Amino acid sequence: MFPEIARTLVTKEQIAGRVREMGQAVADDLRADLARDGHSELDEGRVVLVPIMTGAMIFAADLIREMPVKLSIGLVTVSSYPGQSVSSKGAKLASALPDDLAGKHVLVIDDILDSGQTLELVTRVIAEQGPASLRSIVLLNKTARRSVEFEADYVGFEIPDEFVVGYGLDYDGYYRNHPEIAVLDPASLGVGG
Ligand code: 5GP
Ligand code: MG
Repeated sequence: MFPEIARTLVTKEQIAGRVREMGQAVADDLRADLARDGHSELDEGRVVLVPIMTGAMIFAADLIREMPVKLSIGLVTVSSYPGQSVSSKGAKLASALPDDLAGKHVLVIDDILDSGQTLELVTRVIAEQGPASLRSIVLLNKTARRSVEFEADYVGFEIPDEFVVGYGLDYDGYYRNHPEIAVLDPASLGVGG
């Protein structure tokens, strides 16, 4: 049986309010960085956002529209939950990273911080390029499940150790378009891969 949504954890309104706050906070911090560098916020190519596909696409799409800063976007794809799986099999880069991040102010965007493997990997590889600053933002944080040391600079919501879907997060490729953060019915949830 395909897992059904059991209940909502974070509503559309809660998400929208928090995304607006975070967009402003990140934009303020980036503008401060640019001013410290002696750059105008309108100087081109200084701020690069790196959303981690596919889960971060909806969060990133909403967040950038709340960030009044001149920015460009370089996607990266990381796979960690192949198929019908609810636990990470270890993060792997599944696409090339943007390779021109030296001297840039980089913000890595992900949907959720869980074991930490995805963000630890992506930020480590970006750091090797020598960005001017490197920050990370996640909509959701499950502190309970961290297996590598990693903390995000900006967190939307702390959530308990439950498998969630919606707002970009999937189960076996589905439910990314569900507009709220929801929990699946555990009775129908397979834990295999
Ligand atoms: P980490 O590498 O920190 O364990 O996990 C990060 C990735 O695993 C996220 O980008 C997300 O794609 C996936 N993930 C972690 N927890 C959940 C969850 O509760 N639901 C879904 N759908 N994906 C998750
Ligand atoms: Mg992901």
